[in-house]
Formats: sequence, C-alpha cells, structure tokens
Amino acid sequence: MNRYPRVVIDLHKVEMNTKLLVEKCSSNNLSIMGVTKAFCAEPRVVEAMVKGGISYIADSRIDNIKKVAEYQVPKVLLRLPMKSEIDDLVRLVDISLNSEIETIRAIDVAAGKLERIHKIILMVELGDLREGILPEDLRTVVDEVVKLDNISLAGLGVNLTCYGGVIPSEGNLGELLNLAEVIKKEYGINLEIISGGNSSSLYLIDEGRMPEGINNLRLGEAILLGRETAYGERVEGASSDSYVLEAEIIELKSKPSIPTGEIGMDAFGNKPQFEDRGVRRRAILAVGRQDIDPDGLIPRDPNITVIGASSDHLIMDVEESENNYEIGDILSFDLEYGALLKAMTSNYIGKDFIEK
Ligand SMILES: *Cc1c(COP(=O)(O)O)cnc(C)c1O
Repeated sequence: MNRYPRVVIDLHKVEMNTKLLVEKCSSNNLSIMGVTKAFCAEPRVVEAMVKGGISYIADSRIDNIKKVAEYQVPKVLLRLPMKSEIDDLVRLVDISLNSEIETIRAIDVAAGKLERIHKIILMVELGDLREGILPEDLRTVVDEVVKLDNISLAGLGVNLTCYGGVIPSEGNLGELLNLAEVIKKEYGINLEIISGGNSSSLYLIDEGRMPEGINNLRLGEAILLGRETAYGERVEGASSDSYVLEAEIIELKSKPSIPTGEIGMDAFGNKPQFEDRGVRRRAILAVGRQDIDPDGLIPRDPNITVIGASSDHLIMDVEESENNYEIGDILSFDLEYGALLKAMTSNYIGKDFIEK
C-alpha cells in the first residue's frame, strides 16, 4: 500500500523537459547548468536531467552536491560559498559563483593545499540587488584574482528576477558582455562561461533577442515545472506536471464557512478573514504548512479549492466537486515552485518515482 502524503515524480517528463530546453539553448550556443536545489538534488531526478543533456549539475548547497558526487558532470555551487565550507568546496565542487575577494583568497589557499585549481565565476550586480560585484568594482577584484595560483577565472555571471524582480534584457545582459570584453582584452584571458541568468532569461531566446556571447543559463524551474519566470508563461512543449503531490482525506463534513466565537489569531499569528458562503462541504487532508506552501498547490480537481492550512492540516472546500469523495480518498495537486521546494525538503512526505 502507498504511504501518504507523497510526491510522485515522473522521471521521463523531467528528462524530456531537460532535452527540450537543452536543444532550445544549444541551438543558440548556450549550455545549461541544471539546477537541482528545488528537489534537494534527489539523485534519480538528477540522473534524469543528466540523461536529458545538462552540461553541469548546479546547486546552492554542498550537502546536495555530495549526493551526486558520482556523476561525471561538473558540479557548480550557486550560492556564494561560506568561509566555513571551503574545504568541502574545493574537494566536491568544480566551479563556484563568487562576489567576495576575501572568500576567493580563502578558496585559493584551500585549493593550494589539495594541489587543485578551483574555477570561479564572478557574479556581477546589474540591478536585481541580490549577490554580485558592482560593475565599477569588478576590475579591482579581477586584478587580484588573476594573480592567485590556485584560482582560475572561468567567467562572469548575473542573477536577475530573484530579489528585485528585474527582468533580463538586451540592456543588462549587454552590459555583462561589455564587462567580459574589457576583461578579456585587458588581462589577455579567455572567459569560457558568460552565464546570463536563470529561467527568467529564456524568453529572450524565444524572441530572438538573446545577446550573442551569452553562452550559459542556469535552469531550475523551467526544467522542473515547464515555466519561464520572467512572465510566468508555459515553456511550449514542456510538461508542467512532472511532480504531483498526493494527500489523504481524514475528515469530510459540511460546516459553516465562518468560525463561531470571538476571532483572535490563527496558529501563525495572523488574523484570519472569512467570507460567509453558508454551509459548505469541506475536506481535511493530512498534510500541512510543515510540508507544503498552501498557496502553491493547484488541485487536479478543478472544482475544489484550498481554503486554509495549519501545521499539519490542509482544509479544502469540496462543495462543488463532481466527485463523491470519501474518507481515505487521495487528492492530487500540481505544485508551484515554493510548494515543490517545501514538499521535497519535508521528511514527512514520501517520494515515489514513475520511470516511463
Ligand atoms: C536558484 C538559482 C538559479 C535557478 O533559478 P530558476 O528560476 O529555478 O531557473 C539560478 N542561479 C542561481 C544563482 C540560483 O540561486
């Protein structure tokens, strides 16, 4: 018997989505870093991405990269390294994204001890205000980086549409290319990777506006959920249902839609609001905020809605469903990025795979 709640992952769909995006990008001379953090680098899903043709495995956490050390695909650390993890970094990671010279100096020392060369991509701040060196400071950093014996400057990168919501454009990506040109000329070095962002940069390829010279993207959501993230559009031909959450009904009753009594705070310190819709049929599922983000669940049954959640309970309005649900029935949901992240991270949610 299956155990619930669980996420069912269709490995074939993940592989097909990867293939589609690898082909789309490679026909524009871009390589793909397959971003594995949203599913905690679950090895079987990583394998599907590798089969689909990604050129690098990229994650924000070294703990995740450890799980896939055996794959002969270069590993990339996406989050700026912590000084406290540098020994693991130089052992397990081929390329890291960096913006702090102090950290890069420490990586140089650690790599030297292992007699290894560690590759770095310098992140440039181009408006989104998460990580990155300000363009006017880039040369000072490169001046020092090129003198470090155990560091190889592999390229430049930018991250957009993460904190500030800034959309990639010919403008900001053009600036990245200009900076790369200046560095190549002044220092006489080749930059093998110019990484032009994440799933929000894909629309530029579709519109034929990806600046020539951008030769890499780091893709997570587009592969996993078949969605670009600049405008939230579907990636044509990609599946959006590679991941399905299933949870079990533990209570089914008709109840008023407004609580009775004085309204204080809910379990999370918020004051809840209710609309009186009369008595409605409700289902409680055995899954909660500890495992999922209720706002990121899309019920497969189009006539039911999520009305609330506490730590361990998800409350659904099933009044209008055409299905006659019973206790013990399983409801299925497609997942948005935040809900996928939480579900894959939760130890309380089983992970099962469909192979084909
Ligand atoms: C998470 C992450 C990505 C992937 O973003 P998606 O929107 O899932 O494609 C790319 N680059 C960096 C630096 C990240 O942290």
